[in-house]
Amino acid sequence: MYVLAISRVNCSSGMLPSSLLNMSRLDPWTTIKSLLQARLPKDEFELWFASVSTETSGDRLTMIVPSEVYAEYIRDHHLASLQQLATQVHGPHAVVSLRVDSPAPSTNTVVSRTPLNPRYSFDTFVPGPSNQFARAAALSVAENPGRAYNPLFLYGGSGLGKTHLLHAIGNEVLARNPACRVRYVPTEQFVNELITCIRLQKMTEFRESYRPTEVLLLDDVHIVAGKERTQEEFFHTFNSLHEAGHQIVLTSDTPPTAIGGLEERLRSRFVWGLVADIQAPAFETKCAILLNKARLEGFDLPNDVVLFIARRVRENIRELEGFLNRVIVYSTLTGQAPTLDVVRAALSSLLPDERHVTPAEIIRFVAHHYGLKVADLKGRDNRRSIAFPRQVAIYLIREILSLSYPEIGKIFSKHHSTVIYSVETIVKERLSNPSLDATLTSFVESFR
Ligand code: ADP
Ligand code: MG
Repeated sequence: MYVLAISRVNCSSGMLPSSLLNMSRLDPWTTIKSLLQARLPKDEFELWFASVSTETSGDRLTMIVPSEVYAEYIRDHHLASLQQLATQVHGPHAVVSLRVDSPAPSTNTVVSRTPLNPRYSFDTFVPGPSNQFARAAALSVAENPGRAYNPLFLYGGSGLGKTHLLHAIGNEVLARNPACRVRYVPTEQFVNELITCIRLQKMTEFRESYRPTEVLLLDDVHIVAGKERTQEEFFHTFNSLHEAGHQIVLTSDTPPTAIGGLEERLRSRFVWGLVADIQAPAFETKCAILLNKARLEGFDLPNDVVLFIARRVRENIRELEGFLNRVIVYSTLTGQAPTLDVVRAALSSLLPDERHVTPAEIIRFVAHHYGLKVADLKGRDNRRSIAFPRQVAIYLIREILSLSYPEIGKIFSKHHSTVIYSVETIVKERLSNPSLDATLTSFVESFR
């Protein structure tokens, strides 16, 4: 009865139920945090939200985070649900934002509404066989905008560095000529602005806004697939910039030929200049990127940890960085050095089903490390340059998988006494050669 009476009063006076009123007197963050705590695994919540400071100013709910890495992680993993909770708790106008608790890097003079990310430079881009062609093309465009290759079309899978290179071009052009009118545009933004301008009958302004652009960096152009009006407009934008000798750089998930529903006249424009691809990074490149990124964050990563992380990411560098960010934050917040055990704990929730290592994987790994083919290791060539890596592979399979000697013999088509001899050889060599010992330790650890 009592409850009923109250709710009637509330209805008639248009007031909120008292429980919600009480809640609304709280800082919305207190409520958001307690709701998050219920939703997230304990570790995850403790790590990212338990001790972070927050601010509320009107409808702006700000989370103040200790580093850009931290912000990146929250943005990628939690921002959407934070925003949703904020809307529920605080009201429909709530906006969640992140602020890094350190002076922001200075902004540049780019005309575009989407600024260039100063961290995406050629200096921070780790070169490797998978990206050196695209990188070299990007660099020569940045040194000679409008004259090297026009357009430059970069393509490659997700998370392989296309956006990074695009920003690097913009940053480099501006470093050389701060007055240059560089504009970075995600194609999504191009499409949305176009639609808005059509609706508001502001097409002249739309076109005018691109006219002065001297270097147009259009990201993810594959999304124009099947969008006829966008393609038509982009065709005109492209032509007028190109005729004026202005540089155009495009990125795409696929080569121009594979963008479905692309008008022929546009496709032919895309390949006028140079088409360069970025491929999946080699294992060594992944390691180098990890080391580099860790160093940029002022963080020392032991070798075995680098191998451990690099082995667990297939090819997406964004994922590689995600793992690293988590390790850095985990180790900073828990005050533990990033030893292999700490890293394993930090990543445990991201690696739900640890892959079961197979002999084939170990052989592939060793072959790759020594620049050989799997067939070499399984073959009969007994020159030391091949026999030694083969012995290493045999040793590792024994050490990591504890297979029997005859089982290993079968894999390599060798008598089990040869397998025993191989294992003993490496054990002996390991004792007298500290550098081999360190390498093998890190191999073994990285497979665990
Ligand atoms: P894409 O646009 O191809 O999906 P991004 O350019 O966004 O990929 O790259 C994903 C992340 O990986 C970015 O943080 C970027 O800095 C990083 N990255 C990619 N390639 C490299 C590289 N060669 N060296 C250093 N960082 C890289
Ligand atoms: Mg991208």
